[in-house]
Formats: sequence, structure tokens, C-alpha cells
Amino acid sequence: MIPETMTAWRIDGFGGPEVLQRRTEPVTAPAGDEVLVEVAFCGVCRHDLLTRAGAFPSVPLPLTLGHQVSGTVVAAGPDAEWETGARVMSTIFMGCGHCAACLSGNQAVCTTGRSDFMGDDFDGGYAEYLRAPDRAFVRVPDALSLEVAAVVNCTLGTAYHAAHTRGNIAEGDTVVITGASGGIGLHSIAVAKHARARVIAITSRESQADALREHGADEVIVAPDLQFARRVKELTAGRGADLVLEVAGDPTLAQSLHAVRTGGRVVVIGNVSGAPSEVRIAHLVMKEISLLGTKSCSNEELSEVMRLVAAGELSVDINRVIPLDDVREAHIDMEEQRSSGRIVLEVGGTR
Ligand SMILES: [Zn+2]
Ligand SMILES: [Zn+2]
Repeated sequence: MIPETMTAWRIDGFGGPEVLQRRTEPVTAPAGDEVLVEVAFCGVCRHDLLTRAGAFPSVPLPLTLGHQVSGTVVAAGPDAEWETGARVMSTIFMGCGHCAACLSGNQAVCTTGRSDFMGDDFDGGYAEYLRAPDRAFVRVPDALSLEVAAVVNCTLGTAYHAAHTRGNIAEGDTVVITGASGGIGLHSIAVAKHARARVIAITSRESQADALREHGADEVIVAPDLQFARRVKELTAGRGADLVLEVAGDPTLAQSLHAVRTGGRVVVIGNVSGAPSEVRIAHLVMKEISLLGTKSCSNEELSEVMRLVAAGELSVDINRVIPLDDVREAHIDMEEQRSSGRIVLEVGGTR
């Protein structure tokens, strides 16, 4: 049943969307603890744009991008834990599989320092099949569609880990979310509202303000110049926010350190520019700010998020589903920031 070849959209150099090339690649049987997954859906993430553009020059080339993958196991190596037919989604990070972090389902913070990112360090889901060790996947509950499962991890999973595990979010907190109209931003709003926090969403574009309110933001600050701290102070009676979910990274971090209250937390989720950032040490010291990084979520958090989605308490924001062969269009669209929410590539089909 497994074909000898497949379609894969790969890059063999860095650059604009045109470096994504449609290729015919061999499908190789899984060995050891590997499984072969027939890809159903693959989300397109802003991270993919950075990889394609060359922000991570050490990734192996040629490379198939895509870390938000769902699908079905169609073959398993002799040591793999998955049975054929299992519905799975990617954990994004693979880890070593042996250290304490990996054994507890926290592959993203594998203590060997080699967490191995799907679609960066090994081939990802812009392809009909994906071969990887079993620990690169978790099971999808029957109640969840593969279309939704593909993007749960990098959206709600990331936001859940950032807000709860790292940011220690509490009911009644005022939470500022930068880069709020992107995929992670919208899902951070959802997670923060689910935690009964007050959300102040930051965007540089007036055209996004209504959408942010519809997604649950209590207040929206439109800041084309990215200067929003003063307005946050006004909205919090001079006190500042309890928690900032810093989705945009370098372009807004300095303002976030202004906007957070004394003793507050700033959790850095991403960095849209990829550029290094200057931090005013005096802000950290004098306001005793907790400046925290956050990477991905644990398998346990992923299960909890999937449970909440299946129960209708949280939902993923999917902008649209398009064929795999339209992947360049997805990259162009996201680069020009034409739409909010996730674009999902339909690879093998609808289940
Ligand atoms: Zn992602
Ligand atoms: Zn490990």
C-alpha cells in the first residue's frame, strides 16, 4: 500500500517563497523505533518562513519544512510504540528520548541540548509521508479531527505552556499580548480568557482591531509605532500589567518591560524579526521583573489542551485550508500579513 515515491515541497537553498520546490522523493520504510506517517494536514507557521529565509543557516539542506503535522501511522519499525492505523500529531520537538526531560514528555527541553525540531533538524510535513522516531508524535483523541489536531500544538499548546506553566497566569490578572493578531497571538488571547484574565491586545494595524475584540480581547491598543506602554499604564491605573505574553519579540520587548508592573512577568514566546534585542537591565533589576523564555509544551499539556478543545472550551483559529501544492501562496500571504489565524495545508485528506 505504501508507494515508492511521494510529492514533497522542499527547499535546497534559502530565500523567498520561490525556493519552495515541488519534488518527487522516495518513500523509505521505517526502521528501529521509527514510524511512517501518511500526512493528513500540515499547518504553516511563521517559523517556517524564518527557516525558509535562512534565519537558521545550520539546518540541513535539502529540507522539507513543516512541524504542525497530523496523520495516520501506515508502517512502524520493530521497536516503535505505535500501531499502524494510529491517528497521531507531531510533538514538534523530538529530543533524545532518554534524559529525564524527554522521559517526562518534555522533549522541547531535552537536557542533551539537542531537542531536534521537526521541519528544521529533520524533514517535516510539507510532504505526503513523514518518517521519524515514534517519540516525535502523540496520539490524537477520537473526538478531535486531524485538521484541528495538526495545529493544536504550535498554537494552543504553546500558548497554554507560556501562560500557565511559565507565566503562572491567575484569574483577574491583566495580561498584555503583543503581536496579538498572528496565530500564536490569537490563541494566547483564547488561553488567557479561558483562565479568566483581562486581556489587552497589541497590534500595529487598525484593520486587526475588530478581529482581536471578536477573539475575546477586552482592550485593543493599535500602535503602528509599537509604542504601547503608556496606554497600558493608563488602562491599569498606572500600575502596569501583571503578565506580558511577548509574542512579537525584539520589536516590542522594550515596551513590554515598560508596560509590566513591578514584580510582573514577561514571557517571551517568539521573535518575528529574528534579530537580537537590547534589554534595559535597570528595568529588570529595579522592577524585579521575571523575564522568562518559553518554547513548546509538554505531552501532558498537549493532552490537556486536546481535551479542552474536544470539550469545546478552547478552539483553534484556522484561517483556511488549502492544498499542499498552494504552499507558496500560504508563505506569501503570511509574509504580507494578509490574514490572521493559521493556514493549514491539506495533504492526504479529510478525517
Ligand atoms: Zn510553529
Ligand atoms: Zn532528552
